[in-house]
Amino acid sequence: MIPPIASNFVAGEDAATAIDHIRDCNADGVAGILNLLGEHYETRADADADTRAYVDLIHDLDEAGVDACVSVKPSQIGLDVGEEAFRENLASIVDAGQKRDCFVWIDMEDHTTTDVTLDAFEHHARETDGDVGVCVQANLKRTRDDLERLAELPGKVRLVKGAYDEPKDIAHKGGEAVDEAYRDCIEFAFRAFDDGVAVGSHDPAMLEYAAEMHDEYGTPYEVQMLMGVRESAQRDLAGDVPVYQYVPYGNKWFSYFYRRIRERKSNALFALRAIVGR
Ligand code: FAD
Repeated sequence: MIPPIASNFVAGEDAATAIDHIRDCNADGVAGILNLLGEHYETRADADADTRAYVDLIHDLDEAGVDACVSVKPSQIGLDVGEEAFRENLASIVDAGQKRDCFVWIDMEDHTTTDVTLDAFEHHARETDGDVGVCVQANLKRTRDDLERLAELPGKVRLVKGAYDEPKDIAHKGGEAVDEAYRDCIEFAFRAFDDGVAVGSHDPAMLEYAAEMHDEYGTPYEVQMLMGVRESAQRDLAGDVPVYQYVPYGNKWFSYFYRRIRERKSNALFALRAIVGR
Protein backbone atom coordinates (compact mmCIF):
# COMPACT_ATOMS: atom_id res chain seq x y z
CA MET A 1 0.00 0.00 0.00
CA ILE A 2 1.17 3.53 -0.77
CA PRO A 3 1.84 5.49 2.46
CA PRO A 4 -0.24 8.66 2.89
CA ILE A 5 2.82 10.93 2.35
CA ALA A 6 3.34 9.51 -1.14
CA SER A 7 -0.32 9.43 -2.08
CA ASN A 8 -0.21 13.18 -2.67
CA PHE A 9 1.85 12.51 -5.80
CA VAL A 10 0.83 8.97 -6.81
CA ALA A 11 -2.82 7.99 -7.31
CA GLY A 12 -2.60 4.38 -6.16
CA GLU A 13 -1.12 1.02 -6.97
CA ASP A 14 -3.78 -0.15 -9.40
CA ALA A 15 -5.66 1.25 -12.37
CA ALA A 16 -9.05 1.21 -10.64
CA THR A 17 -7.81 3.52 -7.85
CA ALA A 18 -6.16 5.82 -10.39
CA ILE A 19 -9.40 5.99 -12.38
CA ASP A 20 -11.27 6.95 -9.19
CA HIS A 21 -8.77 9.81 -8.78
CA ILE A 22 -9.41 10.90 -12.37
CA ARG A 23 -13.15 11.00 -11.63
CA ASP A 24 -12.45 13.45 -8.79
CA CYS A 25 -10.27 15.56 -11.12
CA ASN A 26 -12.99 15.55 -13.78
CA ALA A 27 -15.49 16.79 -11.20
CA ASP A 28 -13.23 19.84 -10.79
CA GLY A 29 -13.01 20.38 -14.55
CA VAL A 30 -9.53 18.85 -14.81
CA ALA A 31 -8.84 16.01 -17.27
CA GLY A 32 -6.31 13.23 -16.60
CA ILE A 33 -3.15 11.88 -18.16
CA LEU A 34 -2.48 8.45 -16.70
CA ASN A 35 1.04 7.11 -16.42
CA LEU A 36 1.81 3.63 -15.17
CA LEU A 37 5.08 4.03 -13.28
CA GLY A 38 8.00 2.07 -14.71
CA GLU A 39 11.09 2.74 -16.82
CA HIS A 40 14.32 1.25 -18.14
CA TYR A 41 13.16 -2.32 -18.44
CA GLU A 42 15.88 -4.62 -19.63
CA THR A 43 13.75 -7.57 -20.67
CA ARG A 44 11.15 -7.84 -23.36
CA ALA A 45 8.86 -9.65 -20.91
CA ASP A 46 8.77 -6.62 -18.58
CA ALA A 47 8.22 -4.20 -21.48
CA ASP A 48 5.45 -6.38 -22.90
CA ALA A 49 3.76 -6.68 -19.51
CA ASP A 50 3.49 -2.88 -19.15
CA THR A 51 2.34 -2.60 -22.75
CA ARG A 52 -0.50 -5.01 -21.98
CA ALA A 53 -1.27 -3.00 -18.85
CA TYR A 54 -1.63 0.16 -20.99
CA VAL A 55 -3.90 -1.64 -23.45
CA ASP A 56 -6.07 -2.82 -20.52
CA LEU A 57 -6.00 0.67 -19.02
CA ILE A 58 -7.25 2.22 -22.27
CA HIS A 59 -10.12 -0.29 -22.25
CA ASP A 60 -10.93 0.52 -18.60
CA LEU A 61 -10.83 4.29 -19.20
CA ASP A 62 -13.32 3.91 -22.01
CA GLU A 63 -15.62 1.73 -19.91
CA ALA A 64 -15.39 4.20 -17.02
CA GLY A 65 -16.28 7.09 -19.33
CA VAL A 66 -13.74 9.45 -17.74
CA ASP A 67 -12.00 12.35 -19.46
CA ALA A 68 -8.45 11.02 -19.65
CA CYS A 69 -5.61 9.97 -21.92
CA VAL A 70 -2.36 8.05 -21.30
CA SER A 71 1.34 8.88 -21.38
CA VAL A 72 4.03 6.23 -21.88
CA LYS A 73 7.79 6.22 -21.42
CA PRO A 74 9.82 4.70 -24.30
CA SER A 75 12.13 2.80 -21.95
CA GLN A 76 9.10 1.34 -20.18
CA ILE A 77 7.79 -0.28 -23.33
CA GLY A 78 11.05 -1.66 -24.68
CA LEU A 79 13.50 1.00 -25.87
CA ASP A 80 16.30 -0.33 -23.65
CA VAL A 81 15.65 -3.80 -25.07
CA GLY A 82 15.78 -2.56 -28.67
CA GLU A 83 14.12 -0.18 -31.09
CA GLU A 84 12.01 -2.95 -32.59
CA ALA A 85 10.50 -3.84 -29.22
CA PHE A 86 9.73 -0.16 -28.57
CA ARG A 87 8.10 0.32 -31.99
CA GLU A 88 5.99 -2.84 -31.75
CA ASN A 89 4.77 -2.07 -28.25
CA LEU A 90 4.03 1.57 -29.01
CA ALA A 91 2.06 0.44 -32.08
CA SER A 92 -0.08 -1.85 -29.85
CA ILE A 93 -0.83 0.99 -27.44
CA VAL A 94 -1.63 3.47 -30.22
CA ASP A 95 -3.84 0.86 -31.89
CA ALA A 96 -5.76 0.35 -28.62
CA GLY A 97 -6.08 4.13 -28.33
CA GLN A 98 -7.52 4.33 -31.84
CA LYS A 99 -10.12 1.67 -31.07
CA ARG A 100 -11.17 3.31 -27.80
CA ASP A 101 -10.80 6.97 -28.73
CA CYS A 102 -7.95 7.50 -26.26
CA PHE A 103 -5.16 9.99 -26.98
CA VAL A 104 -1.64 8.60 -26.44
CA TRP A 105 1.25 10.78 -25.27
CA ILE A 106 4.90 9.75 -25.50
CA ASP A 107 7.05 11.09 -22.66
CA MET A 108 10.58 12.20 -23.54
CA GLU A 109 13.51 10.65 -21.68
CA ASP A 110 17.20 11.61 -21.83
CA HIS A 111 18.87 13.02 -24.97
CA THR A 112 20.09 9.63 -26.22
CA THR A 113 16.45 8.74 -26.93
CA THR A 114 15.29 11.95 -28.62
CA ASP A 115 15.71 10.88 -32.26
CA VAL A 116 14.06 7.49 -31.93
CA THR A 117 11.21 8.98 -29.90
CA LEU A 118 10.54 11.77 -32.40
CA ASP A 119 10.71 9.29 -35.31
CA ALA A 120 8.17 7.02 -33.61
CA PHE A 121 5.95 10.01 -32.90
CA GLU A 122 6.14 11.16 -36.53
CA HIS A 123 5.14 7.70 -37.78
CA HIS A 124 2.05 7.49 -35.55
CA ALA A 125 1.14 11.16 -35.92
CA ARG A 126 0.87 10.67 -39.68
CA GLU A 127 -0.86 7.28 -39.41
CA THR A 128 -3.50 8.43 -36.91
CA ASP A 129 -3.74 11.95 -38.30
CA GLY A 130 -2.84 13.48 -34.99
CA ASP A 131 -4.13 11.21 -32.22
CA VAL A 132 -0.73 11.07 -30.52
CA GLY A 133 1.47 13.60 -28.78
CA VAL A 134 5.12 13.89 -27.83
CA CYS A 135 7.01 15.78 -25.15
CA VAL A 136 10.01 17.99 -25.99
CA GLN A 137 12.43 19.59 -23.55
CA ALA A 138 13.45 23.25 -23.74
CA ASN A 139 16.73 22.59 -21.91
CA LEU A 140 18.06 20.71 -24.96
CA LYS A 141 19.65 23.07 -27.49
CA ARG A 142 18.31 20.98 -30.37
CA THR A 143 14.67 21.42 -29.39
CA ARG A 144 14.10 24.72 -31.19
CA ASP A 145 15.04 22.94 -34.47
CA ASP A 146 12.96 19.88 -33.54
CA LEU A 147 9.95 22.17 -33.17
CA GLU A 148 10.34 23.27 -36.82
CA ARG A 149 10.01 19.60 -37.83
CA LEU A 150 7.09 19.01 -35.45
CA ALA A 151 5.22 22.07 -36.72
CA GLU A 152 4.76 20.26 -40.06
CA LEU A 153 3.12 17.21 -38.43
CA PRO A 154 -0.35 16.51 -37.08
CA GLY A 155 -0.58 15.66 -33.36
CA LYS A 156 0.15 17.54 -30.18
CA VAL A 157 3.42 18.63 -28.62
CA ARG A 158 3.96 19.02 -24.88
CA LEU A 159 6.58 21.65 -24.06
CA VAL A 160 8.46 21.16 -20.78
CA LYS A 161 11.65 22.60 -19.31
CA GLY A 162 13.26 19.14 -19.14
CA ALA A 163 13.82 16.83 -16.20
CA TYR A 164 17.16 15.22 -17.13
CA ASP A 165 20.62 16.48 -16.22
CA GLU A 166 22.13 16.68 -19.72
CA PRO A 167 25.75 17.38 -20.77
CA LYS A 168 26.51 21.10 -21.08
CA ASP A 169 27.58 20.97 -24.73
CA ILE A 170 24.05 19.98 -25.76
CA ALA A 171 21.94 21.58 -23.04
CA HIS A 172 21.13 24.99 -21.61
CA LYS A 173 22.26 25.09 -18.01
CA GLY A 174 20.86 27.11 -15.11
CA GLY A 175 17.35 28.35 -14.38
CA GLU A 176 17.59 31.59 -16.36
CA ALA A 177 18.99 30.00 -19.51
CA VAL A 178 16.38 27.24 -19.43
CA ASP A 179 13.57 29.76 -18.83
CA GLU A 180 14.75 31.84 -21.78
CA ALA A 181 14.87 28.76 -24.03
CA TYR A 182 11.43 27.72 -22.76
CA ARG A 183 9.93 31.11 -23.63
CA ASP A 184 11.53 30.89 -27.06
CA CYS A 185 9.96 27.45 -27.63
CA ILE A 186 6.56 28.66 -26.38
CA GLU A 187 6.63 31.67 -28.70
CA PHE A 188 7.59 29.56 -31.71
CA ALA A 189 5.01 26.86 -30.98
CA PHE A 190 2.13 29.31 -30.60
CA ARG A 191 3.21 31.02 -33.83
CA ALA A 192 3.80 27.89 -35.93
CA PHE A 193 1.55 25.09 -34.66
CA ASP A 194 -1.98 24.45 -35.93
CA ASP A 195 -3.01 21.57 -33.67
CA GLY A 196 -2.49 23.37 -30.40
CA VAL A 197 0.23 23.45 -27.80
CA ALA A 198 0.44 21.69 -24.44
CA VAL A 199 2.33 23.67 -21.82
CA GLY A 200 3.67 21.24 -19.20
CA SER A 201 4.77 23.53 -16.39
CA HIS A 202 3.89 24.73 -12.90
CA ASP A 203 5.75 28.00 -13.38
CA PRO A 204 3.32 30.95 -13.08
CA ALA A 205 5.59 33.15 -15.26
CA MET A 206 5.61 30.61 -18.08
CA LEU A 207 1.86 30.03 -17.84
CA GLU A 208 1.31 33.77 -18.03
CA TYR A 209 3.57 33.97 -21.07
CA ALA A 210 1.64 31.10 -22.74
CA ALA A 211 -1.65 32.96 -22.12
CA GLU A 212 -0.12 36.09 -23.74
CA MET A 213 1.00 34.06 -26.76
CA HIS A 214 -2.47 32.54 -27.01
CA ASP A 215 -3.97 36.05 -27.08
CA GLU A 216 -1.46 37.13 -29.72
CA TYR A 217 -1.67 34.16 -32.12
CA GLY A 218 -5.05 32.59 -31.23
CA THR A 219 -3.52 29.10 -31.15
CA PRO A 220 -5.49 26.71 -28.91
CA TYR A 221 -3.56 25.34 -25.93
CA GLU A 222 -3.82 23.26 -22.80
CA VAL A 223 -1.96 23.32 -19.50
CA GLN A 224 -0.56 20.12 -18.00
CA MET A 225 0.64 19.79 -14.42
CA LEU A 226 1.63 16.93 -12.14
CA MET A 227 -0.60 15.39 -9.51
CA GLY A 228 0.19 16.92 -6.12
CA VAL A 229 1.71 20.12 -7.52
CA ARG A 230 -0.25 23.41 -7.46
CA GLU A 231 -3.55 21.56 -7.56
CA SER A 232 -5.59 24.62 -6.55
CA ALA A 233 -4.04 26.49 -9.50
CA GLN A 234 -5.04 23.57 -11.72
CA ARG A 235 -8.66 23.94 -10.62
CA ASP A 236 -8.58 27.74 -10.97
CA LEU A 237 -7.05 27.62 -14.45
CA ALA A 238 -9.56 25.02 -15.61
CA GLY A 239 -12.17 27.77 -15.93
CA ASP A 240 -10.09 29.49 -18.63
CA VAL A 241 -8.17 26.78 -20.47
CA PRO A 242 -8.22 22.97 -20.71
CA VAL A 243 -6.14 21.59 -17.83
CA TYR A 244 -4.75 18.07 -17.62
CA GLN A 245 -3.31 16.51 -14.50
CA TYR A 246 -0.53 13.96 -15.06
CA VAL A 247 -1.44 11.12 -12.73
CA PRO A 248 1.15 8.42 -12.00
CA TYR A 249 0.10 5.10 -10.49
CA GLY A 250 1.48 1.61 -9.97
CA ASN A 251 3.63 -0.31 -7.53
CA LYS A 252 6.91 1.33 -8.64
CA TRP A 253 5.95 4.54 -6.86
CA PHE A 254 8.93 4.98 -4.53
CA SER A 255 11.51 6.42 -6.94
CA TYR A 256 8.94 8.79 -8.48
CA PHE A 257 7.90 10.01 -5.02
CA TYR A 258 11.56 10.41 -3.98
CA ARG A 259 12.25 12.54 -7.10
CA ARG A 260 9.34 14.90 -6.24
CA ILE A 261 10.70 15.25 -2.69
CA ARG A 262 14.26 15.95 -3.86
CA GLU A 263 13.35 18.53 -6.48
CA ARG A 264 11.61 20.99 -4.18
CA LYS A 265 11.93 22.05 -0.57
CA SER A 266 8.16 22.65 -0.21
CA ASN A 267 7.45 19.04 -1.23
CA ALA A 268 9.96 17.81 1.36
CA LEU A 269 8.37 20.01 4.06
CA PHE A 270 4.97 18.66 3.11
CA ALA A 271 6.26 15.11 3.57
CA LEU A 272 7.93 15.99 6.85
CA ARG A 273 4.74 17.56 8.22
CA ALA A 274 2.84 14.40 7.26
CA ILE A 275 5.41 12.25 9.10
CA VAL A 276 5.32 14.27 12.31
CA GLY A 277 1.51 14.54 12.06
CA ARG A 278 1.17 18.33 11.84
P1 FAD B 1 10.24 24.87 -12.19
O1 FAD B 1 11.36 25.55 -12.92
O2 FAD B 1 10.50 23.59 -11.47
O3 FAD B 1 9.60 25.85 -11.16
C1 FAD B 1 9.28 27.19 -11.57
C2 FAD B 1 8.23 27.77 -10.66
O4 FAD B 1 7.03 26.98 -10.70
C3 FAD B 1 8.61 27.82 -9.21
O5 FAD B 1 9.45 28.90 -8.91
C4 FAD B 1 7.24 27.91 -8.55
O6 FAD B 1 6.73 29.20 -8.67
C5 FAD B 1 6.40 26.99 -9.42
N1 FAD B 1 6.43 25.62 -8.85
C6 FAD B 1 7.10 24.55 -9.32
N2 FAD B 1 6.90 23.47 -8.54
C7 FAD B 1 6.08 23.86 -7.56
C8 FAD B 1 5.50 23.21 -6.40
N3 FAD B 1 5.76 21.93 -6.10
N4 FAD B 1 4.69 23.92 -5.61
C9 FAD B 1 4.43 25.22 -5.87
N5 FAD B 1 4.96 25.89 -6.93
C10 FAD B 1 5.76 25.24 -7.75
N6 FAD B 1 10.17 16.23 -18.25
C11 FAD B 1 10.81 15.48 -19.18
O7 FAD B 1 12.03 15.58 -19.31
N7 FAD B 1 10.11 14.61 -19.97
C12 FAD B 1 8.76 14.48 -19.89
O8 FAD B 1 8.16 13.70 -20.64
C13 FAD B 1 8.06 15.30 -18.96
N8 FAD B 1 6.71 15.26 -18.86
C14 FAD B 1 6.08 16.13 -18.02
C15 FAD B 1 4.68 16.16 -18.00
C16 FAD B 1 4.02 17.10 -17.23
C17 FAD B 1 2.53 17.14 -17.24
C18 FAD B 1 4.77 18.03 -16.42
C19 FAD B 1 4.10 19.08 -15.60
C20 FAD B 1 6.14 17.97 -16.42
C21 FAD B 1 6.82 17.03 -17.19
N9 FAD B 1 8.20 16.97 -17.19
C22 FAD B 1 8.83 16.17 -18.13
C23 FAD B 1 8.99 17.67 -16.14
C24 FAD B 1 9.50 19.03 -16.60
O9 FAD B 1 10.52 18.86 -17.55
C25 FAD B 1 10.06 19.82 -15.41
O10 FAD B 1 11.15 19.13 -14.85
C26 FAD B 1 9.07 20.09 -14.30
O11 FAD B 1 7.80 20.37 -14.80
C27 FAD B 1 9.55 21.29 -13.47
O12 FAD B 1 9.57 22.47 -14.24
P2 FAD B 1 8.45 23.62 -14.13
O13 FAD B 1 8.27 24.20 -15.50
O14 FAD B 1 7.22 23.05 -13.55
O15 FAD B 1 9.01 24.75 -13.22
